[in-house]
Amino acid sequence: MAKIIDGREISRKTREDIKERTLEFIRRYGRAPGLAVVIVGDDPASQIYVRNKSKACEEVGFHSEVIRLSADIPEYELLSVIAKLKTDRSIDGILVQLPLPRGLDPKVIIDAIPPEKDVDAFHVSNVGKIMLGEKCFYPCTPAGIMKMLEYEGISVDGKECVVVGRSNIVGKPMAMLLLHANGTVTVCHSHTVNLKEITSRADILVAAVGKSKFITDDMVKEGAVVIDVGMNRDENGKLTGDVDFEAVEKKASAITPVPGGVGPMTITMLLENTLFAAGNLIQKR
Ligand code: NAP
Repeated sequence: MAKIIDGREISRKTREDIKERTLEFIRRYGRAPGLAVVIVGDDPASQIYVRNKSKACEEVGFHSEVIRLSADIPEYELLSVIAKLKTDRSIDGILVQLPLPRGLDPKVIIDAIPPEKDVDAFHVSNVGKIMLGEKCFYPCTPAGIMKMLEYEGISVDGKECVVVGRSNIVGKPMAMLLLHANGTVTVCHSHTVNLKEITSRADILVAAVGKSKFITDDMVKEGAVVIDVGMNRDENGKLTGDVDFEAVEKKASAITPVPGGVGPMTITMLLENTLFAAGNLIQKR
């Protein structure tokens, strides 16, 4: 039976540590780190994510602002909201909740966020730094996965790592972080031929596909570490991962569950990024 990597517990411990560092930050600089979350429209899933982000900020002692805008806001008005946050000294991190309603180009909006406040690490400048291995923000989900591996004492060095999925927010940055940690990395996608053959080689297998129970036990090597990023709903509305947990758990040496695995770490890393941004901005002023 695999060790279950408990994302909730790792997240709780990490947040305790962030809370302590936040208190120290407030003592030194006389203000709390600040995060602004901009939400456009009324997508129900986005509303929940934003509420959770705001609650997490409160929990660790951050200042947080949620800016709610109507779905039909013109692009120039949204850009002017971002421009105001750019110069707001109480705000260290700016996050625009995705997806944006039709008519707003996410690329234009994300690139308007100053890179030093881009706590999601989606700005082209931060993406470039991730590629170069320069110290910067890391996208929250892959960063959370690296933190979990480190917490569990799982070394990536020299390991065969396979990432299934090549999205800009999960798969690609995940591959880069594993590469920087000296893993030998293969990235698979919907055009990959012989997927099973490739995943079966993995010492560390990351599934970021968005398809329920896509990774079955015959795709996994005995003793592999399996990280399930997927957040899917089954026919009964139950949250499921990309991995067939019951079957794969019997073969893997360690595995993340869904829920309670990667998910809780994502918001925790957003807090970590905001604290990092606050420290950097204070040094510059
Ligand atoms: P995405 O943008 O839809 O990307 C999915 C990737 O899977 C694509 O690269 C796609 O390949 C690949 N893929 C699809 N079918 C495949 C197949 N049959 N064989 C191999 N690869 C295949 O999704 P995402 O944003 O990366 O998210 C992936 C999952 O993670 C979703 O369930 C999402 O909800 C979840 N997620 C969770 C968190 C968290 O905090 N836990 C955060 C972000 C995302 P192509 O590029 O060729 O199309």
